[in-house]
Amino acid sequence: MLVLKFGGTSVGSAERFEGVLKLLSSLQNSNQQAVIVLSAMSGMTNALIAGANLAVNRDLKGALQTLATIRDTHEQCVENLFVKSQQSMNLLKDIDASLQELEILFKGISYLGELTKRSLDAVSGMGELLSSKILAAYAESRGLKVQWVDARDFMITDENFGKANPLWAKLIPKAKEKLSPILNSGKLVITQGFIGATEYGASTTLGRGGSDFSASVIGVALDASEIQIWTDVDGMMTADPRVVKDAFVISEVSFQEASELAYFGAKVLHPLTIAPAVDKNIPVRILNTLRPEAKGTIIKASVNASGLICAIASKKGISAFFISSPRMLMAHGFLTRVFEVFDKHQTSIDLISTSEVSVSVTTDRTDTLEKISADLAEHGEVRVLSNVAIITVVGRQFREKSGIAGQVFDALRNINIIMISGGASDINLSFVVSEEQADLAIRQLHDAFFDTKN
Ligand code: ADP
Ligand code: ASP
Ligand code: MG
Repeated sequence: MLVLKFGGTSVGSAERFEGVLKLLSSLQNSNQQAVIVLSAMSGMTNALIAGANLAVNRDLKGALQTLATIRDTHEQCVENLFVKSQQSMNLLKDIDASLQELEILFKGISYLGELTKRSLDAVSGMGELLSSKILAAYAESRGLKVQWVDARDFMITDENFGKANPLWAKLIPKAKEKLSPILNSGKLVITQGFIGATEYGASTTLGRGGSDFSASVIGVALDASEIQIWTDVDGMMTADPRVVKDAFVISEVSFQEASELAYFGAKVLHPLTIAPAVDKNIPVRILNTLRPEAKGTIIKASVNASGLICAIASKKGISAFFISSPRMLMAHGFLTRVFEVFDKHQTSIDLISTSEVSVSVTTDRTDTLEKISADLAEHGEVRVLSNVAIITVVGRQFREKSGIAGQVFDALRNINIIMISGGASDINLSFVVSEEQADLAIRQLHDAFFDTKN
């Protein structure tokens, strides 16, 4: 059994839907059991969130205009995919019902002047419901045997709206109960990424970019033989191809390397995707919907690693705290107190670096900065630098090889390095630079480590 997840750009237009359909046809022709996990059409989740924000700011007119654009995108797609038929009329009716629901939600948000995380989830997950309904109807109209399933019927999560966590013990039996009979009947399952529901039926989302995570959760729940992430690039690359034009696909990446790269900014994979797959040792493959013939990247437990480094990732919008206290000298408990402050504000720390009397940490949360600064001030002098970037070099057994740090810092001679953190794992060397210098730093590192000139 396979799980195939198609990202927003893979279903960004009628033409792209046709590409996905071809892949589904070949799965069915080879009697391959598969669950298809779909994202919203590209740009739609952003539009839904923007609409909700307009609504809460009492710009109901703006919110409804956004809704009109969302309607247009989906209706246009249906018109391009279908010749007018009873089936396409039913689909348009279905789309209309979802949009009416959204209109009610926007009006409610606007009248109350309140947008809770819970209502935002009800809004932002609608894009996946719409795109998956279009694909299911289209696949059926082309003679495929498919079954549309509402992911909220089995993707049971906690109530952490906006970034809900799967409740595995409840979810696994539910997913098996709902999906296995459909798969056993020879149909392909078409469902949504990103969305789930609490035990009591309230809609949740797994966090932005969370459809990858959905695919891996479903893969683990149903013991898939492979989880495939279909996207708009040929695989996991040595750097973000939008930043480094010479970046190239890495054919094999280990679970650990992929996790580090995803966590430190390689957007091609949601950071939570790998962990469940590791537990069951299910390989994750990244493939390109635009070029299905490309080999892609396979992520698995052990790989034939060559070279010093695997890839470079970066994460912008980071804040760095520098806390210094002479009291820390020879004292114990200082770090505990610092970490307690972050814990109190439910803010996770990415990088840490310490000296005798100071400690520096970074976080990607921006909404808790002021409260954290105020609480930290009780323990020492605090300085915060916002809008910095973490650059992470993910390497291959750093501790066993000499000269890597030398090569990294040689490549960054002209870059102002604000903080360094390395050695915590055998494969990660991270540092902080200003956002303005981040892309340049990545390009210079890429040039230094990957000879792409011949
Ligand atoms: P999807 O809509 O399919 O989920 P995303 O936009 O979330 O696609 O992820 C794919 C994008 O990730 C690529 O278009 C690429 O620009 C970006 N990306 C960032 N880092 C990497 C990397 N190391 N390898 C491949 N792609 C990367
Ligand atoms: N559509 C959601 C988002 O844009 C989930 C995803 O695409 O993975 O965040
Ligand atoms: Mg994505």
